[in-house]
Amino acid sequence: MSYDPELTEVFTAADLAGGGEIFRKLNPPARLAVFGDPVAHSASPPMHNAALRELNHALQYVRIRVTPEELSEALRNLASADFIGASLTIPRKQAALPLMDEVSREARLIGAINTVAVRDEKLCGFNTDGPGLAAAISEEFGIPLKELSVLILGGTGGAGRAITVQCALEDCPSITIANRNPAKGDQLAAEIRESIGKQVASVSLDPKDLYSAIPSVDLVINATPLGMEADDSSPLSNLSEGLLTSNHLVYDTVYSGGETALLKQARLADARCAGGFSMLLHQGALQNALWFGAPAPLETMREALQSLRN
Ligand code: NAP
Repeated sequence: MSYDPELTEVFTAADLAGGGEIFRKLNPPARLAVFGDPVAHSASPPMHNAALRELNHALQYVRIRVTPEELSEALRNLASADFIGASLTIPRKQAALPLMDEVSREARLIGAINTVAVRDEKLCGFNTDGPGLAAAISEEFGIPLKELSVLILGGTGGAGRAITVQCALEDCPSITIANRNPAKGDQLAAEIRESIGKQVASVSLDPKDLYSAIPSVDLVINATPLGMEADDSSPLSNLSEGLLTSNHLVYDTVYSGGETALLKQARLADARCAGGFSMLLHQGALQNALWFGAPAPLETMREALQSLRN
């Protein structure tokens, strides 16, 4: 099989069995993959393959459909199929953690991994979503995350937990999570207080809570899925005009391409705002750095992602 940079084929977990012959026969061989279900539309292969070409690595990154039942065996087969590692998508991120031989502190605190690196035949789990968000904030707004008081909408989801833990590890001046189900938020706040020793305020997404929280924060982050569909409303749609101001920074983790309702709301309030493209880019660049032990070719990866949007 010849090298195809636009390879959209989806392999199966069974392909990894028996030494992963099918991946060895590709030209160049596949030694990295994203595991997910669905996985056909993942933006990771073009982004990572662009980096691999730039770095002159004779290997490619492919998509593998992995169901929950197949996850354990697929991970165990990575080493014998000569894979360097894998990216994991929701909901494999949580399920994979107990299947690792070693887990980074951040990933353990988050309770999920998005990156597997095979080192000395051991499975090592990492999570680059939090550091990716921190790099994105710094790039988009020119201010380090650690200097900002942060409000995270949907703080208890996969992305939300990673972001909340990152804010706690960076010792942000204040952290508030606003959750549809406040009991889950209270639980996460208690966990972070115990594990990191950082105070996290937990409120609901009700307007009365948001009215008291928003004026005192610098940065509002949307980590709910609201915005992924074109007709989704903003998670702040119930708030009257004037609450968001030009003093706020607004980051929407949604990377659907167009302007989300939240970003529109922020733009109309003259707040500086950015969408989740930069987080996607930086979490990917950090994965590449974990696999190869050197800084990733960030601009090449950015161009590859950008071309998907055009
Ligand atoms: P998730 O695990 O399903 O978590 C969703 C969170 O949002 C939970 O806290 C949930 O609260 C809340 N939520 C769900 N539906 C809601 C609604 N209709 N109204 C209010 N709150 C709601 O989702 P995820 O995988 O973390 O993804 C969340 C977002 O992050 C998505 O937009 C995704 O695109 C984005 N993301 C971006 C990147 C990136 O690199 N840019 C990476 C990962 C994820 P409950 O607990 O109350 O259900």
